[in-house]
Amino acid sequence: MKVDFYKHNVGPEEIKSVNKVLKSLMLTAGPVTREFEAKLAEYTGNAHGVGVTSWTMGGLIALDALGIKPGDEVITCPATFISTSNIAIYLGAKPVFVDADPETGNIREDLIEKAITKKTKAIIPVHLYGQMCDMKKIRKIADKYKLKVIEDCAHCIEGERDGVKPGNLSDAAVFSFYGTKNITCGEGGGIVTNSKELADQLLVMRSHGMSKSAGMRYVEKYRHWDMEVLGWKCNMSDIQAAMLIPQLRKIDDYLKKKEAICQKYQKAFSKLKNISFPKVLPNSKHARHLFTIWVPPAKRDWMLGFLQDKQIGVAVNFRAVHLMEYYKREHGFKRGMFPEAERIGDSTVTLPMYPKMTPAEVAYVIDSVTEASKLL
Ligand SMILES: *Cc1c(COP(=O)(O)O)cnc(C)c1O
Repeated sequence: MKVDFYKHNVGPEEIKSVNKVLKSLMLTAGPVTREFEAKLAEYTGNAHGVGVTSWTMGGLIALDALGIKPGDEVITCPATFISTSNIAIYLGAKPVFVDADPETGNIREDLIEKAITKKTKAIIPVHLYGQMCDMKKIRKIADKYKLKVIEDCAHCIEGERDGVKPGNLSDAAVFSFYGTKNITCGEGGGIVTNSKELADQLLVMRSHGMSKSAGMRYVEKYRHWDMEVLGWKCNMSDIQAAMLIPQLRKIDDYLKKKEAICQKYQKAFSKLKNISFPKVLPNSKHARHLFTIWVPPAKRDWMLGFLQDKQIGVAVNFRAVHLMEYYKREHGFKRGMFPEAERIGDSTVTLPMYPKMTPAEVAYVIDSVTEASKLL
């Protein structure tokens, strides 16, 4: 048997939806993008949505619009993908890391205050694997020190914790629609916010800083436009939005299927020696983007090989960001600084987990991990 690491959910409905756009006049950000933005905001219980070309560009224009400048400090957790902290560096700001919680892999909210200095301007909590951080605690800290909060929701569209959804307690929440994410258009991203002012600013920032969006220049009567601020170019296109709208409609069905697979994994793996996995908190609705197991670090790479020899696709989410060559060389980070993020980075193996997995595939992954656990 062969089990792919990931299979997307793009099918006849998405193809039909994209075909309709391809036959229309407007291929860039137009009415379909606006429709998706409204639906994304509605799904997460926020007032405004802004479509962009990736999480990375969404996070970058959000930080920029919120006024992050060279020399500022931005707090995040090193148990994440490199984008989360790279966006601070793009703006000349300094990434400051706070270690991960050993049970969930999310940022240790209780260590955030210790990392705050006079230069701190923002916090980027990452809802790792799809389980939300404690946004109520983070909101309190942000209020006390007047910090901006941008949520990394690349894994977490469907998540909820203590009745709070992405974007509800932050300045902005940013999503990724990259090829392997919960819903995808190949490459893409989205931002939700409850601030009309920020949403308007983001629309300008995603289109060079132009006072009137590129799309509108063609639909309405020609009007001169101006450039008021230095923006970027990262607007979503109607083609991308057309792929996403049907998937967003089906996202809760996908989640049910993913949750059922995770329950099977958790039941089987909790019996195994030398294998553990992140904890799901009782007050949390997990978006179930990734299922990872933790194995002894000395055996992790062996485990990756063992599963791949069995034709099972695997990944590692994530080797700690502060141990990347660039971060060590340019920012002085060293091994030992964030032990929990390092432990996660050294012990994690991500298993296949997606709605299209068949019961036989799930059973095969469980059998293979069980077999491997005897050799750990
Ligand atoms: C995928 C991912 C990103 C980056 O998303 P892009 O859309 O590829 O820019 C950021 N943060 C996390 C946690 C991710 O997994």
